[in-house]
Amino acid sequence: MKCPLCNTSVMVSCRPEENLKMMECKSCGGQWLSSQNFWKWVGSLDKSVQNEEIKAVEYEIRDSDNAKMCLDCGKIMIKYRVGHGLNYKLDHCNSCGGVWFDKNEWNALKNKNLHRELRSIFTRGWQAKVQSEEKTLLLEKHYKKRFGTDYERIADFKSWMDKHELKASVLAYLSDPRPFE
Ligand SMILES: [Zn+2]
Ligand SMILES: [Zn+2]
Repeated sequence: MKCPLCNTSVMVSCRPEENLKMMECKSCGGQWLSSQNFWKWVGSLDKSVQNEEIKAVEYEIRDSDNAKMCLDCGKIMIKYRVGHGLNYKLDHCNSCGGVWFDKNEWNALKNKNLHRELRSIFTRGWQAKVQSEEKTLLLEKHYKKRFGTDYERIADFKSWMDKHELKASVLAYLSDPRPFE
């Protein structure tokens, strides 16, 4: 098995977690997780300790953007956004379920307690949510730029008004061009 990034480097077996077997490239730090090994690990997990404490470690990630072939079955892999504040994509084989992690991508996932939910990332629902998250962030950025120092004040007012039971009337009042003094 060869690394899809370095091409020549041979992958060696590693155990990033108890009972979790992956293949790792010693040269670039990329990791390969087969679907079978993922499910073996999930099956070994103690269901009572679902959530570990989230550490405030920032991992440096250089997301590789080249198209990769599945290390197990040779099919072309598809990129999936992770979201939830993680700004990288994972390569997933839709045929056999294998996943490629660039260096630290697994660790960053674990840091957010998303590693057990790995399979959900490759679903339509997850991807739609990430897209809407991104849209919200983009809109926020746009309005911050547009409103400048007034942004916080306007955002505060909006979140208050959004919950107001007379929201429609408040909006009508605000957009009424007549003076009310
Ligand atoms: Zn490599
Ligand atoms: Zn595959």
